[in-house]
Amino acid sequence: MSTTRNSGFPRIGARRELKQALETCWRGESSAEDLQRTARELRHRHWQLQADAGIDIVPCNDFSLYDQMLDTAFLFDAIPDDYRALADRDPLAGYFALARGHQKDGVDLRALEMTKWFDTNYHYLVPELHAAQQFRLRGDKPLAEFLEAKAAGHHAQPVLLGPVSFLWLSKSVDGSDRLELLDRLLPVYAELLSRLHQAGADWVQVDEPCLVLDADPRLQAAWQHAYAVLAQQPRPKLLLASYFGSVGDNLDLVSGLPVEGLHLDLVRGVDQLDALLQRWPRGRVLSAGLIDGRNIWRANLDHALVLARYAQGHVGAENLWLAPSCSLLHVPVDADDETALDAELRGWLAFAKQKLEELRLLGDALLNQPHADAALARARERHEARRRSQRVHRPEVAELQASLTAEWSQRPAPYETRRARQQERLQLPAFPTTTIGSFPQTHEVRQARARHRAGKLSDGDYQAYLASEIERCVRVQEELDIDVLVHGEFERNDMVEYFGEQLEGFAFTRQGWVQSYGSRCVKPPIIFGDVWRPTPMTVAWTRYAQSLTTRPMKGMLTGPVTVLQWSFVRDDQSRADTCRQISLALREEVRDLEAAGIAVIQIDEPALREGLPLRRAEWASYLDWAVECFRITAGVAGEGTQIHTHMCYSEFNDIIEAVAAMDADVISIETSRSRMELLDAFVRFRYPYQIGPGVYDIHSPRLPDSAEMRGLLDKASEVLAVEQIWVNPDCGLKTRGWAETTAALREMVEAAKAMRLVH
Ligand code: GLN
Ligand code: ZN
Repeated sequence: MSTTRNSGFPRIGARRELKQALETCWRGESSAEDLQRTARELRHRHWQLQADAGIDIVPCNDFSLYDQMLDTAFLFDAIPDDYRALADRDPLAGYFALARGHQKDGVDLRALEMTKWFDTNYHYLVPELHAAQQFRLRGDKPLAEFLEAKAAGHHAQPVLLGPVSFLWLSKSVDGSDRLELLDRLLPVYAELLSRLHQAGADWVQVDEPCLVLDADPRLQAAWQHAYAVLAQQPRPKLLLASYFGSVGDNLDLVSGLPVEGLHLDLVRGVDQLDALLQRWPRGRVLSAGLIDGRNIWRANLDHALVLARYAQGHVGAENLWLAPSCSLLHVPVDADDETALDAELRGWLAFAKQKLEELRLLGDALLNQPHADAALARARERHEARRRSQRVHRPEVAELQASLTAEWSQRPAPYETRRARQQERLQLPAFPTTTIGSFPQTHEVRQARARHRAGKLSDGDYQAYLASEIERCVRVQEELDIDVLVHGEFERNDMVEYFGEQLEGFAFTRQGWVQSYGSRCVKPPIIFGDVWRPTPMTVAWTRYAQSLTTRPMKGMLTGPVTVLQWSFVRDDQSRADTCRQISLALREEVRDLEAAGIAVIQIDEPALREGLPLRRAEWASYLDWAVECFRITAGVAGEGTQIHTHMCYSEFNDIIEAVAAMDADVISIETSRSRMELLDAFVRFRYPYQIGPGVYDIHSPRLPDSAEMRGLLDKASEVLAVEQIWVNPDCGLKTRGWAETTAALREMVEAAKAMRLVH
């Protein structure tokens, strides 16, 4: 016997069917029943696909119409009071109101806040709790999905988010301790488990991903208590699931909890295996997460098999389940769909479906089934071929990396010298104005790009179209009297893809979609080989834009850490090494922009913060190489070239030292929504460089006037030196329309000019 199981399947659909169904429903073009029908079809299709791939235990309740955290909050009625009337009257409308806000018939409900799910690019809705919070079961989603699977012939394992992680990942709106609510939540949790039990569920997967965060005595006490209480209840067996790393200092705790099974991430957390096996309670099931659920490469099955045999030796064949390291939510559905990729490259990839097939093969190999040998040999050959491939390893990149010295990450002069030289050259007024890079990506711009891609618009016509857009954008900025201009980024589809498509070592999928939040998906590039820049990527358009104006034109680059962070990366070298290669390629771009006469270059790093490891102890080493990579890219610039960086979605308190170590002459950040509070970190640190605190929120169609922006600038000038302050929006303008953009920028320039008069 060898048992395979899965912890969660991507729900958006191989063709993003759920996205289409949601969005047509939200637009009122289809009914709630239509949406539920598509949802049901997807669940059924995915159960069948998993069974066909040879998975013995398929999950249920891993499906969600929007987000599993929201599902959990909704299920336990942990929703703010003002949504309750709507949710009682129309559950689906109430559910979507929490996800997206609701404005109808005099009811005005805002959406819940959204935040990153651990270190993935998935975002969850943050439930809001308060001291008087009560819980009860609202609906029966896990039960209904279990029965639905059963009716379709699948004995599924329901997935629930564990009570402690649920409370911990929520937020308290009144400053009360959310773990205090545990005793109120547990009876409701127990009731749910008992109902699942009665319906025939023998096991439930209970996710406690907070187990891989830094150990915290309060959390540990909560886990002890919660599982001791649940142990007393009539219920299915519990498979306690940790993932995204090893349980670290929670190891003793986890060993001792009264649960019947434990799921471990043995890809990122293989280090925990031995210690846990040493104290494995007799009869406890081990769900061994041997196949990487966070990346898209075929596994090294020989390696996985060694681990599986080792684990089996300790726990016994009857207690070993083979599984992916975590839910497959974070990978696309089917690599076989990527027929536009060459067969060799495609053969290196494993999306959700292929990962399940790998599990089955692993299971068969564990039983020494004869056919497994041949399949393993083929997998081994493929693995070897990738390891040796000349497409992966380029000698010139290895040479370049070998010649890298500390000097490369060093600007030629200290900041004060650079500042003087740059000011001499740029002659900027006080409170200089600029924007973050992109201007409206209108329907027309996107259509022109699509038509060009489809061969319906010739290269020449497309180039001419872009040139005219850029010229218009330059004239608009001149007319607005902005000081440092941008070309508008009309030629870019996406800030990472645009560069990846021009660099060697990247591949792009057609259907490699991964859910980011709700109906939003991203299609991360795949970095499969050494990164190398064959030709300049942004120089022609930037030079053209500069030729149209006497004002400084800012060159726009996406930084190395952000390119890395928003891609699927190689698993055969460290992230730091891959990042260094990207930084070297971008360094060449900085060199060429400078040679083309560009005096201001912005290197965007919005993803710097989100690359932080889950455990504090690993932060310093990450920040070291991340900052080094930025500096390698920027370090080639002469002292008279002004280097900007831009970071949004960030908090700075705990990374301010690293941000300062980037040594960028100017940083622009998102601050308008926090009313400049984010500046505190810079002030406290005595950040010496120039800062553009965003003065208006580009994520909202709301138009702030110049008085409001002046108010923000006044606040900034109370805490920063006047010479430090730049005036700019929070982020790029690509999602906005032209009319609102020019109106807002006009107000912004007016605010800057008003500041100049008084300072
Ligand atoms: N330069 C990019 C833009 O303006 C920056 C985008 C971002 O920070 N996410 O669109
Ligand atoms: Zn931004």
